[in-house]
Amino acid sequence: MKQTPLIILAAITTICLLVFACRKEIDYLIHDRDRVTPDLLESAQVWYLQRLSSDPSIPRLLPTWKDAWGIQSVNGDSLVIVPAPENYIGVKDISVRRFFVFKTDGVSVSDGRIVEFVGESFDVSSQVDLLLKHFRSDVVPGFTGIVLDYDVNYDLFDKKSYTGGQLDNRDVGLVNLSGYEMHILAKSKWTRRAPIQSMSREVISAAIPCPPYTETYNGVPGNLAGNCVITFLVYTTLSSNGCIASKTYNYLSHTCPVPEGSGSGSPASGSGSSGSGDGPPYGGGAYSNTITNNIKDPCINNTISNAINSPNLALELIDDIIKELDSDLAVDIQVEDGETNGNYPGEMQDAEITKVNGIPRKFSAKLVLDSSYVVDASQEGTVAIFIHEVLHSYIAKAGLIDGTNNIDHHQTMAEKYVAPMASYLQGLFGISEFDAYALSWAGLTYTSAFSDVLTFEIGGETYDKSDLLIASAAYMGRGGDGNLLNGTEHCSN
Ligand SMILES: [Zn+2]
Repeated sequence: MKQTPLIILAAITTICLLVFACRKEIDYLIHDRDRVTPDLLESAQVWYLQRLSSDPSIPRLLPTWKDAWGIQSVNGDSLVIVPAPENYIGVKDISVRRFFVFKTDGVSVSDGRIVEFVGESFDVSSQVDLLLKHFRSDVVPGFTGIVLDYDVNYDLFDKKSYTGGQLDNRDVGLVNLSGYEMHILAKSKWTRRAPIQSMSREVISAAIPCPPYTETYNGVPGNLAGNCVITFLVYTTLSSNGCIASKTYNYLSHTCPVPEGSGSGSPASGSGSSGSGDGPPYGGGAYSNTITNNIKDPCINNTISNAINSPNLALELIDDIIKELDSDLAVDIQVEDGETNGNYPGEMQDAEITKVNGIPRKFSAKLVLDSSYVVDASQEGTVAIFIHEVLHSYIAKAGLIDGTNNIDHHQTMAEKYVAPMASYLQGLFGISEFDAYALSWAGLTYTSAFSDVLTFEIGGETYDKSDLLIASAAYMGRGGDGNLLNGTEHCSN
């Protein structure tokens, strides 16, 4: 029975012995792969391009069209398989391969997916055809690992885990964290502190309040740059009441942006064990900085970028909040200069949580700095307005997730965040403690926390409220000579 293919194989091997291109034909025969007609391949390309998001924050995985092949799945589906660039995995026992999988009716494409196979002590590279043939099956002979199913924009659609070839109910998945987030975690000795305002996204749907749980991080390389993305294989355990008991993050790989001119594809220099510039990290999801600075004025843009990306780890809470929002893959904050609706120096607009099946998936908001106001402000004044709006988003995000929308933002800021704001501004600009407090109170002066007191003790001195108002105003405006009354010009460095 096997004789005919063997004869054909022998014949092709003989004929093609010296012709490199024929290796593909041999491959097809050995692996039971089919050739894809040009029309079908074009149909897959059109399907892919029509659905590709134009959002630049979405990672773009590029199909290697020239290496496409066709197979029949055990479910009877005709599939077109297109390989995609892989990333280096620096961990023994774990292997990953990813492909585009297009479902066809023979002549045209009806569905397209990015599929990742993650093997746990199972070498997925040597079993690619077996895995692809059993895509979406409940049984994958011998396979232990997970199969992640994404749309073409790398947004997770479905996840299946297997042990010994059978579906199981383990909670295991891939998670991407940024280098910034790892720096924050490193400060707390690799243990994530309990979220300040809200429970984790995973436990929101639980009716009962869950206690905090520990997260353990294994194998993270030290000193990764903030803009690197680290991919973890994450195991979650639940307690009997459905709450998360623990999460274990096992380092898998990382990718760092390749500096322009150094050539893509070469490992990022100085990044340690891995880091290729070939494709986005495994695990999908928007992974670029999630606070996006769209400010048009170049000097004001620079001022805000310095605040977002400050490497000064002594800035503590406010810096942690900025970095946390900026590295949270479920956050989309756009910072813009323009006109505020309420004629305020800054304004948060369109804050909302997108939910899928009742589970919060994404927090999005716009932070608008009033261009006619900030153009006459100093760097210190502009950043004070910015962190005020960052806190609005931080409080709004927590409120939208746990349903406490009616929380008084300004009162919360006045009670909890004035001192952290002041120490942040002081650390960033080296201004006096008094000036830093004055800037932090700006925008909060009609709260009861401000109006209920007559004087303020700052740095051992007693000040009238009017002292604070005058001091903050000096950072926000110019004198008759056109010069700032206090602080640093946006364009000064
Ligand atoms: Zn406000």
